[in-house]
Amino acid sequence: MEMNSSNLWVFIETNEKGQAHNVGLELLNPGHSLSRAQGDEVVAIVIGQHTEAAVASAEAYGSDRIIIVEGEEYARYSTDAFAYAFHALITKYAPTSILIGATDLGRDLAPRLACRLKTGLTADCTELDFDEESGNIAWTRPAFGGNLMARILCPNHRPQIGTVRPAVFKKPEQDTSHKAEIVREEIHFSIENIRTKLIEEILDADNETIDLEGAEIIVSGGRGVGGPDGFKVIQQLADALGGTVGASRVAVDSGWISSAHQVGQTGKTVRPRIYIACGISGAIQHLAAMSSSDTIIAINTDPEAPIFKIADYGIVGDLFKVIPEFIALIDEQ
Ligand code: FAD
Repeated sequence: MEMNSSNLWVFIETNEKGQAHNVGLELLNPGHSLSRAQGDEVVAIVIGQHTEAAVASAEAYGSDRIIIVEGEEYARYSTDAFAYAFHALITKYAPTSILIGATDLGRDLAPRLACRLKTGLTADCTELDFDEESGNIAWTRPAFGGNLMARILCPNHRPQIGTVRPAVFKKPEQDTSHKAEIVREEIHFSIENIRTKLIEEILDADNETIDLEGAEIIVSGGRGVGGPDGFKVIQQLADALGGTVGASRVAVDSGWISSAHQVGQTGKTVRPRIYIACGISGAIQHLAAMSSSDTIIAINTDPEAPIFKIADYGIVGDLFKVIPEFIALIDEQ
């Protein structure tokens, strides 16, 4: 193994148009603070067929170095080709730590890499910091059904690998004049050896259009909404504010709204400017994924509901009375 660097790597996931997924750019933010704490550089890894757009983003969001692997075999994600290329890079450069977005792609790729490297994987992290005492990254993730947050150190294995949920971190400041060192690696994987073949693509219409992670305003409904019709009121408030509809898991599991709207440990992590929780009690699995919102407003009939503990503004009342009044006030503006 060529031990010529000890850097922290951030995987920049791309879509089929070659654009960077937000989560990779967000991870450059903790990537910077954690790599500086260890005297390292932050290195972005871009694998794809056409990588210019993603490389430009990785550069503008502050990567010190960008390692690019390009080829037609990387036009669409496959476990075989991506794990092969990424593993070859790790073997050559020996990074200390690797951050990967906890997207569908990242949740597939990261465990494959960890297994090939015989190292651990801390999956689905919601917080990262540097543990000064041991000199390790501290990876925080929900454990035991989200009932406690585990802070995990990996003192004995390198590289240490973790996946981090989208929208946990804000993207760093963009600076289009920033220049990164660009390194191109020729690593190829035969297309014939990719064992998965795309037969048909069935798009989930809701998943395509609902961008909870990027939403500035979210109006969420829970069990208190009472049924699918109750979500019409939630939608009206979201429309009045130019926001997006979210939901608790109970509302999704009850079939009142599609899973694309679910906020929480097993749904999406969000950090909008304004989060309005309507008829949501504030279970830890829900709070874990929305408590970083800038302003939280809760509407609940129960003054003891835990959601009020984290709300900036709380309204004790029936959402079916409060929301129409809310909308009327907005209409007056
Ligand atoms: P409830 O807890 O039943 O709360 C309903 C609230 O509505 C109550 O506070 C009530 O006072 C209020 N209310 C009733 N009527 C009205 C009214 N007319 N007006 C105003 N308020 C009213 N949950 C998630 O949300 N997301 C997840 O991703 C998630 N993942 C999970 C993962 C695991 C492993 C586990 C074990 C659980 C998970 N949960 C998740 C479930 C979570 O524990 C809670 O059960 C769930 O969040 C509760 O949803 P709720 O707040 O809508 O319902």
